[in-house]
Formats: sequence, structure tokens, C-alpha cells
Amino acid sequence: MTRNTVVMRVIVVCAALVAPIGLTAQGHGAADAHWSYVGAEGPTHWGDLSPAYGQCGTGSLQSPIDIPRNVALSTTSIAFHYRSTPLELINNGHTIQANYAPGSYILLDDERYELLQFHFHGLSEHTVAGRPFAMEAHFVHKSASGRLAVVGVFLKQGSTNPFLGGLWDHLPQEAHQKEAPTGVSIHGIDLLPEDRSLIQYSGSLTTPPCSEGVYWNVLQTPVEISEAQVASFTAIFHGNARPVQPLNGRAFNQVTAGSIH
Ligand SMILES: [Zn+2]
Repeated sequence: MTRNTVVMRVIVVCAALVAPIGLTAQGHGAADAHWSYVGAEGPTHWGDLSPAYGQCGTGSLQSPIDIPRNVALSTTSIAFHYRSTPLELINNGHTIQANYAPGSYILLDDERYELLQFHFHGLSEHTVAGRPFAMEAHFVHKSASGRLAVVGVFLKQGSTNPFLGGLWDHLPQEAHQKEAPTGVSIHGIDLLPEDRSLIQYSGSLTTPPCSEGVYWNVLQTPVEISEAQVASFTAIFHGNARPVQPLNGRAFNQVTAGSIH
């Protein structure tokens, strides 16, 4: 089955954005063009929908990508310094996003990137040796200099995921709906696999405006999610995954294990 056939079943979302995914601090306003995952506003047309989305069509370092099986080892280091945060889920018309309170971060080669939010795609956006997973979570971080770093976590169909169970109890079903139940906290580290080995490469946002210069860190070990949990998400967003983009000669690093503090 090809990538294109598995992402065909999609819902069309045509709603003003609360905030483009991953761009909470980049100041895009209400004039942003509508986009979706299918048809005339779908991924192959994003670059034509607005001058601001030009890189979606002309960029050479775009994400997601297909990750090959064998990549070079790297001396890069990554460390996770996450804390718990009050649960705040938003349906922004393109995904379910959990906003994160300040104070959680990762260190990448000793540079600090603050965790802003994490959100979900179904199917996964990155693939491994041509195969997608059921879903993918993206933890979006930003450095003081404005650089974005995203940690990707593959979700494969299997056992019920207790962390996601806590989130899914409060899934905002409608576009622009927000759920912030009193007294409920989550800890993002609970969605990461025990083995923090990961693949790094230089890419882009996977949604318009597809800005490049994003430091991608895709964890190699998937975590499990039940069929029913996948269905709860895909009932709201079915196929919110951009197809994989050309590598254009990009190199990968493999980090064998990230530490937690
Ligand atoms: Zn994403």
C-alpha cells in the first residue's frame, strides 16, 4: 500500500486558525489562507494558497521525510527536562494540541529549547523505510534565539496507552473548542518511550507556512496506542498528515540514548 492510498480518507477542515501548528510565537494573523489535507487546499497546493506559504512548494529542506533504516551515529547529546503541566487541550481545526506551561525544556548540544506544546497526527507523518505508524506526536520547542526543535514520537497500534487515556477523556471535538479541566495535570515525559534513541535531521514545519530551519528529533522506538484510542482521534481528524518530502541529499544523525533529568 502506498503512502498516498493510506492518507486518502480525510476530513476537510476549513476554519480560521487559532494558531498554526508549531508557530505559537511567530505572529501569523487572521489573514492566513485556509488549508487542509485534501483537494484544492491540500498539501500539493499549500505553496500556492498564500505568498506566506511559499516554502511549502519551493523549499528544499521540507518535512516530514522517510527515515532510512541505517543512519550514521552522532556525538550530539539530548536531555529531557520536562515537568508536569495543567491539562489544556485545544482543537485548532487541524489537530488536537496540548499547551505546555513554561519551565519544561530539552537541551540539544547544551542549548535550551522550551517546550511550548505537543500535538498529534494520524497517520504518522514521518515513515520508516517507507512504512507509516498509526499516529505521531510532535513536541514543539523553541530556543531563546527563536529556533524550533521538534521531538517526534511514533504511536503504533497495540495496548491502551494510559497517558493518552487521560488526555482522550477530555478531547475537544469541535474546531476552536478548548478543554482545561480543573485540577488535572499531565507530564509529557509519560508519552516518551523508555529508549530515547533518536534520529536527527534538519527540516521544516509540516504545516503551512512550512518554515525551514526546524531541528527534528524523531524517536526510533514507538509507544503503543489502542485501536479504540486511534479511532477516537481519527473520528475528529482523519488523515492530518503531510506526505513525505524529498530528502534532497540531507544527512541524518543517530543519537543512541537521550537522558532524562
Ligand atoms: Zn506536527
